[in-house]
Amino acid sequence: MFFRALVPAVPLALLVGCEGGDINLFTIEDDKQLGKDVAAEIEADPATYPILDEQEFADAYDHLYRIRDELLVSNDFEHADDFVWELHIIDDDETLNAFCTPGGYIYVYTGLMRYLDHEDELAGVLGHEMAHADNRHSTEQLTEIYGISTLLSLVVGGDPGLLGDVATSLVSLQFSRGDEAQADEYSVRYLCDTDYAANGTAGFFEKLIAEGDSGYIPEFLSSHPDPGNRVADINALAEDLECNTEYDPDADYAALLDTLPSSGQTQ
Ligand SMILES: [Zn+2]
Repeated sequence: MFFRALVPAVPLALLVGCEGGDINLFTIEDDKQLGKDVAAEIEADPATYPILDEQEFADAYDHLYRIRDELLVSNDFEHADDFVWELHIIDDDETLNAFCTPGGYIYVYTGLMRYLDHEDELAGVLGHEMAHADNRHSTEQLTEIYGISTLLSLVVGGDPGLLGDVATSLVSLQFSRGDEAQADEYSVRYLCDTDYAANGTAGFFEKLIAEGDSGYIPEFLSSHPDPGNRVADINALAEDLECNTEYDPDADYAALLDTLPSSGQTQ
């Protein structure tokens, strides 16, 4: 009710999704519209976001979409059918990152894809990002940064300058500890319903820890829970749920990497 007093112009119908103390004034349609607008803004800025062409790199996209489709079969998605779950590969070998807009526009950097060793790890990271969108963490965080009235005005009217800012925010959005834990949890739940190792995300964290990567901190590590604890939590949940934790022997990750531009070719 606090929000209503602050923003009297917001119709009552927008007061939805009160869960765990978080109030999300966005509707599902708002999430989709904001995601669509931000995606258009990202597409219009190829210098910052050099997105691989979907036709030219059809094999890479087909492979990623197969992974996505396996994840979306999980009944742990609330918005599998509502959101677009559109994939975009950003051709930047120097960046270990992936992010997902509200409404399900997923972005993954070639730097992250090349860093990983197994398709199960990539599936885990994609699941983690998709979980942020499906649980609508991104809209909540953006609301905290920009305020509800600004964000809703964006959905209604668009504003290229502001959309560019929102896109920049999404790339390095800081989620709460609870949101990160929940995204890790859902990555396990999604993967548990596939042939992938349910703890694939843990493999990524373990590699970061083992190699002592401390330069660029990707979104997955940006917030609090210690990566070592996250590995332990992910493995414990996979065990509790009695999920498979063996990497999928049929996954050919090298084949996926071969479909990307030669390293450094376009940078
Ligand atoms: Zn995250």
